[in-house]
Amino acid sequence: MRLVMKFGGTAVDSPDKVRHIAQLVQSHKKGNEIVCVVSAVRGMTDGLLSIADSVKRGDKTSLDEFVEKCTNTHIQIAEGAISDTNLKTDALATIKKRMRELEDVLGGIVLLGEVTTKSLDYLMSFGERLSTPLVSFALQDLGMKSQHLTGKEAGILTDSNFGEARPLMDTTKLKVSHKLEPMLKQDIVPVVTGFIGADQYGNITTIGRGGSDYTATIIAVSIGAKEVWLWSDVDGLMTADPKLVMNAKVLKEVSFAEAMEMALFGAKYMHPRALEPVIDTKIPIRIRNTFNVKHTGTIITQNPGKESQKIVKSVSVIRHTALIDVSGGSMVGAPGTAAKIFDTLAKNRINIMMISQSPSESSISMLVRKTDLDKAITTLELSLLGKVIKQINVNDDVAVIAVVGSGMRGIKGVAAKVFGAVAKHGVNVIMITQGSSELNLAFVVNDGDCEQAARALHEEFELAKAAGKG
Ligand code: ASP
Ligand code: MG
Repeated sequence: MRLVMKFGGTAVDSPDKVRHIAQLVQSHKKGNEIVCVVSAVRGMTDGLLSIADSVKRGDKTSLDEFVEKCTNTHIQIAEGAISDTNLKTDALATIKKRMRELEDVLGGIVLLGEVTTKSLDYLMSFGERLSTPLVSFALQDLGMKSQHLTGKEAGILTDSNFGEARPLMDTTKLKVSHKLEPMLKQDIVPVVTGFIGADQYGNITTIGRGGSDYTATIIAVSIGAKEVWLWSDVDGLMTADPKLVMNAKVLKEVSFAEAMEMALFGAKYMHPRALEPVIDTKIPIRIRNTFNVKHTGTIITQNPGKESQKIVKSVSVIRHTALIDVSGGSMVGAPGTAAKIFDTLAKNRINIMMISQSPSESSISMLVRKTDLDKAITTLELSLLGKVIKQINVNDDVAVIAVVGSGMRGIKGVAAKVFGAVAKHGVNVIMITQGSSELNLAFVVNDGDCEQAARALHEEFELAKAAGKG
């Protein structure tokens, strides 16, 4: 069977772990064709981002330290994970070459004193460009044939929207299959950088944080893989965040639509678009834990079996968000008010997570991340206060609770059950939304109440019970 296996950053951050995943690939190699997709070593992408920030602020002090730390990390992993002397020499040479290139890039942006979105993507690509050789050489060390490639080399073509580039799937499919098929025929295990593509001019692009999952699904559809396995450090998608709900359980099976709703929440953060490529082709995705290989994980499929078609499957929480309520009499019956508000915020790159407007039209509530709050308020004050809107109210520490399950569709009484359970625990509900797909019901509470609300719902829908067999 043809498999795409993606390994996250926590799976490659030490020599032991790299050797471990190499063995894992080896143990599945027999009778299978495998393509690996690898994330940056844990902390690298964040490190590169903060270096870019320092350069923007004109602070160069942390640069040398970063380069040194980065070199040491990768060299140490190569030294420990690869035993054959020739392979080790090659691996170290590759790492050193890439580090020199990284230093050149850093030197360039320091000289210019600015980081464009284009150069930032180039910079960010180094995390994955350093981790893939480690894995590829470790595979060779165990006697497998392997080759490391960047997303660009593998054929992933995107638009030029740096930072959040979108793959141009038709071309990508052709190019990727053209590149990888012959390698698979020769029994080579390609190890491809996650997160990275290139635009039509050859500039390196990145496809959004957490993008390695997305890379894996893009490759899977391109080569017609049977399954995608996302190896990370959690057992799978869960009924709730185990940090909030102690008896949370791993879900055995969820549908693509449900996984889409859960992607942003919970223990396994997945790129929200990662499921897009595979939905049409119905290629199942397994989420598995490199540190607990006996666990079968969660499988995401088109049509989960009967036993996992429950009304509610999971309760997720996004903590520390902020609610902005704008109001004013002149908003009533004035077409275009909402458009103006959202447009102004969008132009300032503020992402709105949830919206609700009362039918009286005199107020609109919006949920944003706390990190966006100051900018959002300033933007609204500068452009709209006193004109379109009269008043801005903020609640700056709220949490969203989302109840997800495709079985909710058309079933009466789910909302009553949800809010009944929450009310029983004296939790006040501040705002509510439900998409018309009825896959998810979300509401906002004070952050301090979220634990209690999540537990109450987990209990009410008996989530610990039915998912427990996973
Ligand atoms: N390294 C990238 C990130 O941290 C991509 C990934 O890990 O999936 O966002
Ligand atoms: Mg990552």
